[in-house]
Amino acid sequence: MNLIEQIEVQLDALNAKSLRRRRRIADTACAPRVTVDGNPMLAFCSNDYLGLAAHPKIIAALREGAEKYGVGSGASHLISGHSRAHAMLEERLADFMSGYIPSAAALYFCTGYMANLAMLSGMTAVAGPDTVIFSEGLNHASLIDGAKLSRAQVKVFPHGDVLALKAMLENSNATSKIVVTDSVFSMDGDLAPIPAILALCEQHNAWLVIDDAHGFGCLGEHGRGVLEHFDLHSPNVIYMGTLGKAAGVGGAFVAAHATVIDWLVQKARPYIYTTAAPPALAHALLTSLDIIAGEEGHARRLHLQDLIAQLRRDLRLKRWALMESITAIQPIIIGDNAESMRAAASLYEQGLWVPAIRPPTVQEGTARLRVTLSAAHTNDDVACVVEAINELESA
Ligand SMILES: *Cc1c(COP(=O)(O)O)cnc(C)c1O
Repeated sequence: MNLIEQIEVQLDALNAKSLRRRRRIADTACAPRVTVDGNPMLAFCSNDYLGLAAHPKIIAALREGAEKYGVGSGASHLISGHSRAHAMLEERLADFMSGYIPSAAALYFCTGYMANLAMLSGMTAVAGPDTVIFSEGLNHASLIDGAKLSRAQVKVFPHGDVLALKAMLENSNATSKIVVTDSVFSMDGDLAPIPAILALCEQHNAWLVIDDAHGFGCLGEHGRGVLEHFDLHSPNVIYMGTLGKAAGVGGAFVAAHATVIDWLVQKARPYIYTTAAPPALAHALLTSLDIIAGEEGHARRLHLQDLIAQLRRDLRLKRWALMESITAIQPIIIGDNAESMRAAASLYEQGLWVPAIRPPTVQEGTARLRVTLSAAHTNDDVACVVEAINELESA
């Protein structure tokens, strides 16, 4: 076999298991009403939870940022790419999170994936091989990859199992202990028991790394995320929030005690060895944060809560099961892979874009439709998808 044929065999194997992925092309901005592969669709699949991805004020801010700072940053942050816009954004983010993390500072990243690689590899560099990372069973791929990059020892605790984590921490004599968890689980929509996990971390002098990709902007009265939701304050917390989901733009940040942030700047290779994101994005994010923190953000969060309640109230499922979730992620467990694919295909034919999620992304036997809601949806949009799903299930 030549080199290309070796790959083709593997691709054919994916095909045979209906696991070959393809990308659909969106011709319009991220919004509930999109044109996909030329077809008008009503979409329930983005992470644009507050509907800010095409907000006119943020578009104007991005334009203004480009006028002011140009397009590219030209270099990494430690060479010459760290612009005033990045610095202002980091200051705003630190201020935004300061009620929950004492002496908070923040560091802006190009993506959440890189922020997670940087946090875990950078924090492992403090004590080196005598570090143990305690990782929650359903953590996002970027945390799993970050743990691998760190070369720390990794111990996985079962999803939501605080007692198992407690036993692991009690039995560990590692110099440096890092507990890492998603706050909102991306395929299930449920919340990690962060208060109990944080209490354990404080008891065992462990860091708690929280990935709040789906919480930042949505959870808490002011959108400050899972720490505000549970009203938690701790110097042990190293917090990651993404800015391409609810914040509607792109990138991510880590907020932690200023000493931690200074250390990451010295040691976190995924921060150091990459070109800084375009400063215009950081500039646009200042406007996004204003919206999130202000009355408009509050109104959008309330509307999103109303849509979530409507969906949960009006779905009438007998064979399929709506998972327990207070977040914008509302998965409907179907179980069988093929039936899930058929359901998604049938909705798609009706102009409703709801993704089917299969193994290996989720556990075998738990294939599902994953409905995600956005404040940009109307009550009528939700009524539309609810009716279609009710009908499909009873057909
Ligand atoms: C989306 C996501 C990330 C990655 O963030 P990006 O900015 O998209 O790279 C990390 N963790 C979780 C839980 C996510 O859902």
